Amino acid sequence: MSVMWESETQQDQSMSLVLTEGAKTDRLERIIGDLMTELGLDLTNQHFDGTPARVARLYRELTRGSGVDPAKILKTFDSKHSELIVVSEINFYSLCPHHLLIYRGKMHFGYVPDGKIVGLSKIPRLIQAMASRPIVQEDLVSEIADSFMSVVRPLGCVARATGRHDCVAVRGVKCHEAQMTTVALRGLFREKPSLVEEFHQVLTRVDK
Ligand SMILES: [Zn+2]
Repeated sequence: MSVMWESETQQDQSMSLVLTEGAKTDRLERIIGDLMTELGLDLTNQHFDGTPARVARLYRELTRGSGVDPAKILKTFDSKHSELIVVSEINFYSLCPHHLLIYRGKMHFGYVPDGKIVGLSKIPRLIQAMASRPIVQEDLVSEIADSFMSVVRPLGCVARATGRHDCVAVRGVKCHEAQMTTVALRGLFREKPSLVEEFHQVLTRVDK
């Protein structure tokens, strides 16, 4: 009797272990596992051990910017400075909404304040947060510029991004070196071409 009792207990323990492990596997991981199986991949291959969980983490990271609130990122300070401020060479990663493939590149941002400036790190933080979701590059620069205008209320701002898109590099036309540049001009930058020119001159000097 005693032996049977122990054996049943061990069985119960191993059952509950399986259930606990099952509960830890989230729905997204299971879906990714199903996707791989559907593609004919053998999930018992040693290199796929943990792959569904890693891919789930990756896509969660790449979409975490969906609910970002720019007002919480852009802390402002009073300032009398009223000329061009440029923050350049900001790396970003985003997801193409048509293929859910990565595109990456650099963004340059400029603004002319109207009594308020923001901390230097806040602009890269805003760009990287707003990029972390599926969004076309055209809308990305527009939404960053619009958010900055509504929160900081400068006289104008400009966002310029150059990106390389995996959906152009690895499928379709397969152009590995193709880049896309998108620009959003707001306020004073729309009215004064000389200001846009000054922005580009600053970037050219930074590039050297
Ligand atoms: Zn695409």
